[in-house]
Amino acid sequence: MEKPNLKKNQEIELNIEDLSYEGKGVAKVDDFTLFVDNALPNETVKAVITRVNKNFGFARTLEVLKESPDRVHDIDAVYAQTGIAPLSHLKYDKQLEFKRNQVVTDFDKIGLKDVVVNKTLGMESPFNYRNKAQVPVRQVNGKLTTGFYRRRSHDLVPMENFLIQDPKIDAEILRVRDILRKYNVRGYDEKNQKGQIRTIMVRRAYFTGEMMIVLVSRTPDISHYKDITKEILDNPEVKSLFLNINSKNTNVIFGQKMTLLGGKKYIDDEILGHTYRISPRSFYQVNPVQTQNLYQMAIDKAELTGKENVVDAYSGIGTIGLSLADKAKHVTGIEVIEDAVKDADQNAKLNNITNADFVVGKTEDVLDEWAKNDISVDVLMVDPPRKGLASSLIDSLKNIKPEKIVYISCNPATLARDLSLLSDTYEIGDVTPVDMFPMTNHIESVTQLKLK
Ligand code: SAH
Repeated sequence: MEKPNLKKNQEIELNIEDLSYEGKGVAKVDDFTLFVDNALPNETVKAVITRVNKNFGFARTLEVLKESPDRVHDIDAVYAQTGIAPLSHLKYDKQLEFKRNQVVTDFDKIGLKDVVVNKTLGMESPFNYRNKAQVPVRQVNGKLTTGFYRRRSHDLVPMENFLIQDPKIDAEILRVRDILRKYNVRGYDEKNQKGQIRTIMVRRAYFTGEMMIVLVSRTPDISHYKDITKEILDNPEVKSLFLNINSKNTNVIFGQKMTLLGGKKYIDDEILGHTYRISPRSFYQVNPVQTQNLYQMAIDKAELTGKENVVDAYSGIGTIGLSLADKAKHVTGIEVIEDAVKDADQNAKLNNITNADFVVGKTEDVLDEWAKNDISVDVLMVDPPRKGLASSLIDSLKNIKPEKIVYISCNPATLARDLSLLSDTYEIGDVTPVDMFPMTNHIESVTQLKLK
């Protein structure tokens, strides 16, 4: 392939052929691929080239010359340019189709041609769903400002309505911003490693309305922090306020030190009728409406009768295992983060669940031990991070042979890989994508596997 003579900042007319898994328009110049922000299949756009790599490049749409009927007009294009809502320029029913197609493509690539992929289970109202915000803070024109990063950058785009977050969270971010402004607290200056507040994190429990706020600061010495604490806690919905110190030049949001400034150390929420205690560092699903649908689907696919030993692997604070405990003989959760396991134990007690326990460890290590000791598992629920299952875990499963596996996946590519490796031992049921993250390119799905 001859690399065409393309340069950064060059303007060019492009025909968009496809949508990449990241939600960018795909265009070809000769055989060279360009990924184009804010461009949809079948569109012709005038674009500016933003980067040229060896084998592919990037561009940004300046003007849509021929428009797709799938394009949305009433949402500000700025959302598609930031990481908050990169698919918001595509009609919602087409987003759902795009996600299903992505699963089909990943399955085809690996040779899993016969698996049925159902329609994506979408939301009735696909905005304002997030129960958690992590908003970057910078000093802009001399003022502490909140917003979101432009895609692939750390440039702050000031923003007040975040489109996909609980509006009460958006309002709270502005209230906290104004309190910090009032006391002349400065936003973080990443380039010079100066200034203070890097991130405001807000969680709001969907069922109880309780809010938790974490201020992430570069340095611990915030002037007037007592007044600031008092004013933030003046909102009776704010039940918990932490200060986290992160002095490193890093993309990781939290630093080591987490200090309670006021209120309690956790907030409570409910999923499928159970109460959960959430700490600042706990993993907790961000879309409460779809979480219930996802969990219910996973529980239904487990087809429990009350006699099963169930393993909830990658259990977080125990939400899946505890949601199905009344339908099983016993539940064992496996989770690598010790604090999450403590929360899970606590959550079992809080809900008077006595047939569930949680162990700290890597799923692949714990189940390797179990395989060696002939410990039986009837049903295995797995909900791994994006990288999917360790190959050693797949080997152990071929020894343990659970009757059923329910695989909850947040990455169709690793799902396809893992299912393909398990397909000699397991019958692969249909896959249902569940839209946990409307307006973004993220794809969650549930699959049932039955022992052959
Ligand atoms: N099932 C939970 C959490 C899912 S997120 C829920 O629905 O809320 C995935 C979880 O897997 C995280 O809590 C992460 O800490 C944990 N994890 C990551 N790698 C792991 C491994 N190898 N073994 C066990 N847990 C792991």
